[in-house]
Amino acid sequence: MDLSIDRNYKKVMNEIDSYCNLFNRKRESVKLIVVTKSQPSEKIEQAIAAGARFLGENYPEETIEKKNELSNLPEDLEWHMIGHLQSRKSQLVINEFTMMQSLDSVKLAKRLDRQLKASNKKLPVLLQFNVGGEDSKYGWNASEENNWSSFIDEMVEVMNCSNLIVQGLMTMPPFTIIEAESRTYFRRLRDLGEYLQSRFPELSISEYSMGTSHDFKMAIAEGATMIRIGTAIMGSREK
Ligand SMILES: *Cc1c(COP(=O)(O)O)cnc(C)c1O
Repeated sequence: MDLSIDRNYKKVMNEIDSYCNLFNRKRESVKLIVVTKSQPSEKIEQAIAAGARFLGENYPEETIEKKNELSNLPEDLEWHMIGHLQSRKSQLVINEFTMMQSLDSVKLAKRLDRQLKASNKKLPVLLQFNVGGEDSKYGWNASEENNWSSFIDEMVEVMNCSNLIVQGLMTMPPFTIIEAESRTYFRRLRDLGEYLQSRFPELSISEYSMGTSHDFKMAIAEGATMIRIGTAIMGSREK
């Protein structure tokens, strides 16, 4: 049996431990989401055997296919949707996922809310923001701090969706290996969270999903509560 996923998982867990020490973070305040998009179910099985309990997926149909191939899943296993979702697939997320991390439009929020009400369910969500303002990234554009008030009206509409439980923010910043740059983007998401918390005191913004294989150290430094690690644990992706 190939042990590389087990080894990678332990290595990343050790790194999380040491960064939590370094930046005075409580270890239990940082959750590891193992990103399994475009990975076959055999490798997902190995990740679960290594200890993974939070899995991040980007394409709901692919997730359903893989779930059908997996058996004896641990009771406490959670599936988190982290990719851009076309609204017409919203019901799949309600049926298959524990959390929707990539809520990026009012349209999607309203559709999810309507379907949740119909089935008498609630769904924890994170609001996705585009902290670098890149065209290729999803989420509300939060690259200019003095423009943040421009999406307040849309935030109100999302918060009126009473079957969505807004728990925090998520971002996918521009790629950089320069730590100071990563840090600026992650800090921006934190600042935005504090801004929204002050505008909407009834909210409880406590989750920050940020940091991937190459930049999770700085994400932990800036307060990430969920880091989303794919290749560093699962190896390179198919397709
Ligand atoms: C693929 C993906 C990740 C994981 O990236 P790695 O570089 O493989 O760690 C994290 N977040 C999102 C939203 C992704 O699409």
